Amino acid sequence: LLSSATSPGLHVIHIAAEMAPVAKVGGLGDVVSGLGKALQKKGHLVEIVLPKYDCMQYDRVCDLRALDVLIDSYFDRQLYKNKIWVGTIEGLPVYFIEPHHPDKFFWRGKFYGEHDDFRRFSFFSRAALEFLLQAGKKPDIIHCHDWQTAFIAPLYWDIYAPKGLNSARICFTCHNFEYQGTAAASELESCGLESHHLNRPDRMQDNSAHDRVNSVKGGIVFSNIVTTVSPTYAQEVRTSEGGHGLHSTLSAHSKKFIGILNGIDTDAWNPATDAFLPVQYNATDLQGKAENKQALRRNLGLSSTDVRRPLVGCITRLVPQKGVHLIRHAIYLTLELGGQFVLLGSSPVPHIQNEFEGIANHFQNHDHIRLILKYDESLSHVIYAASDMFIIPSIFEPCGLTQMISMRYGAIPIVRKTGGLNDRLT
Ligand code: ADP
Repeated sequence: LLSSATSPGLHVIHIAAEMAPVAKVGGLGDVVSGLGKALQKKGHLVEIVLPKYDCMQYDRVCDLRALDVLIDSYFDRQLYKNKIWVGTIEGLPVYFIEPHHPDKFFWRGKFYGEHDDFRRFSFFSRAALEFLLQAGKKPDIIHCHDWQTAFIAPLYWDIYAPKGLNSARICFTCHNFEYQGTAAASELESCGLESHHLNRPDRMQDNSAHDRVNSVKGGIVFSNIVTTVSPTYAQEVRTSEGGHGLHSTLSAHSKKFIGILNGIDTDAWNPATDAFLPVQYNATDLQGKAENKQALRRNLGLSSTDVRRPLVGCITRLVPQKGVHLIRHAIYLTLELGGQFVLLGSSPVPHIQNEFEGIANHFQNHDHIRLILKYDESLSHVIYAASDMFIIPSIFEPCGLTQMISMRYGAIPIVRKTGGLNDRLT
């Protein structure tokens, strides 16, 4: 196993379910890599632990190789072997955990949305800590993210600190309180946590269903510091309207709870060097921006007769949080006002996906509207570059990265004043 190099800074280990560009669903992936790189630049030793998904973008992982030991990890009263892989993603050392469990937890062709997500990620959280213990890591900070790895906090204090993995303090960042990871209390037992000890109102018991446990609540209660992704959202989630049932827990732990505004990775998102763009440009030479607009119109079959016709972009997960009815309205209003509209989005919610497929078909060969209903990293870069304006009509928004990316690419963000969209945008 690799031992931790000595470094003058802190040793920070992120344990997460996403990391851009290899395993990204939304902003969480961007932040794990962006924050990791930023801390590394400041001289800290940063390592990341991820599940080894079958559907990762393996071509973006450098020097991927398996370590020659298997790690035994407890689940459902048995030990399961895990193969540990190591590689580098954009200069960051990353460990990938491949469980040898018959349920093939990360061999599903997708990252989330499986019936056993609670089991998949409680397994991963435990295996990640087991790996750190057996590898002899002595991190200063273990940083876990969202409900998928919030299990780390109770697992660390109840099981791993007593076993000797006790150099660290735990930071839990919640990127969106809408997703909390709840399950019947007994399901907690699988990863070795004791439900009778934790299913209590001041510990992991869900605030609305008392026979259920809530992993985000466990992350809040058992971490040393809890952060969320913007100051405004940190205020909103302390209220009963914005707290998704966790406002009382957050208020009880308010001394260790803080909102820190996310930033974007300005190397990955840089129109002057962006290899996905047909033409690079910068703030003092915008000719390239016009050429990207031309290229996108040509590729999507939109009319290019009027170069001054404004192009409105929107890149989003199509979920109720993002204001899907307002996005739909914006498509028709843009058309009415003489603009062009390009939407890149996909939805895990079947009725929303169907509705937008209907709109996409309706405008299939239209001169001014195009809806592309999939996840496409390279197209997203070109749309930011081509857009004059960018809409983000979120109903709530913990931080939002697309307003920052669009500003970086010279497109004016038009947003609803909520959460991070209300905070400083640069
Ligand atoms: P969230 O995390 O709620 O999805 P954010 O604004 O924090 O929202 O982050 C969204 C990130 O995901 C941005 O980097 C955005 O460009 C990207 N993204 C969203 N939908 C798509 C898509 N369909 N194709 C490519 N990238 C997408």
